[in-house]
Amino acid sequence: MREFCGLLSQEVENFFEEEGEKAFRATQLFDWVYQKGKVDYDQMLNLPQPLRSLLKEKVAIGVLQLEKIEDSEDGETKKFLWKLPDNHFVESVLIMSGDRRTVCVSSQVGCPARCAFCASGKEGAIRNLTPAEIVEQVVLINHHLMQVDERVSHLVFMGMGEPLENYVGVVRALKILMDPDLFGFSSRRITVSTVGVAPNIRRLMEDGFKVNLALSLHAPNQHIRKKVVPYARKFSIEEVLKSAREYARFTKRDLTYEYVLLDGINDTEENAEELASLLRNEQCTVNLIPYNPVSGLNLKRPSKEKIEKFHAILLKRGVRTTRRYTKGKDIAAACGQLALHRKNEKKPLEIEAKSV
Ligand code: SF4
Repeated sequence: MREFCGLLSQEVENFFEEEGEKAFRATQLFDWVYQKGKVDYDQMLNLPQPLRSLLKEKVAIGVLQLEKIEDSEDGETKKFLWKLPDNHFVESVLIMSGDRRTVCVSSQVGCPARCAFCASGKEGAIRNLTPAEIVEQVVLINHHLMQVDERVSHLVFMGMGEPLENYVGVVRALKILMDPDLFGFSSRRITVSTVGVAPNIRRLMEDGFKVNLALSLHAPNQHIRKKVVPYARKFSIEEVLKSAREYARFTKRDLTYEYVLLDGINDTEENAEELASLLRNEQCTVNLIPYNPVSGLNLKRPSKEKIEKFHAILLKRGVRTTRRYTKGKDIAAACGQLALHRKNEKKPLEIEAKSV
């Protein structure tokens, strides 16, 4: 069965034509879903009953079921836990910062990348999300924001999963989110974060997508990177940097490098110097993310002094660097954590989180 939020506007219009329905019905439907945030045909009161019945029979909608919303203490972050039709769980995070309303979406159940510091990667990948399961995260959070006269302004593919390992699903979701008759998001407001699936970074370029790219680097060299990001065994740091830089030239947008600081692993002054040399003369931003402990993982956050020293070295060497402050620390607003807790229901919901 087709899923409505996995269809482009042209595909919905073709479907209506095949079914002998008037073209304006498709526009009404887009308005209900993408402007009003409704994912229940029975609430679409200007659609005739026979058409609602036909849609229910042939095009699924409302594939995500909201299980829980958690608010952070600072009121800036909300975490949404969704139940999927096959009883798996994924989550999205809404980050409210200034005028920005950024949704961090998940792209897979679990994650194949198995980064050393991440809860999502603990059990590997279970399955890809469908395009509709990705798009509905945005539709439903947008609806949530509409209650207070706000809308989603930015999207980041930085939740559970490695987006470029669900290439077909993510690319279709991007097309739908950017479709001017549906959400109409500008590619400038969308960031895809990857651990470095080099062939699919190149494919993104070949397919003409000019979204922002964030590369989860987490190390200044291949030796350390292999310890933090097991995917580095598949794609070397040289190959990943080469494809990401080609992509940046193609989009004419600066790359962002994510760097989780882990005590005793990638946080020394030498590591900072090496990272600065690696990125020398490059128009880019490094996002330093001091690690916050995840239970069950034997990793520590560096001391404040070490974090500041690392930051200062990069700045001194002319590397544009930001320190990402943890948003929603008290609600486990990190990829995979809430879904993981939901899965292990016997365990109490822990409120520790790594940085997001
Ligand atoms: S940090 Fe991201 S890429 Fe790495 S295991 Fe977690 S979800 Fe996957």
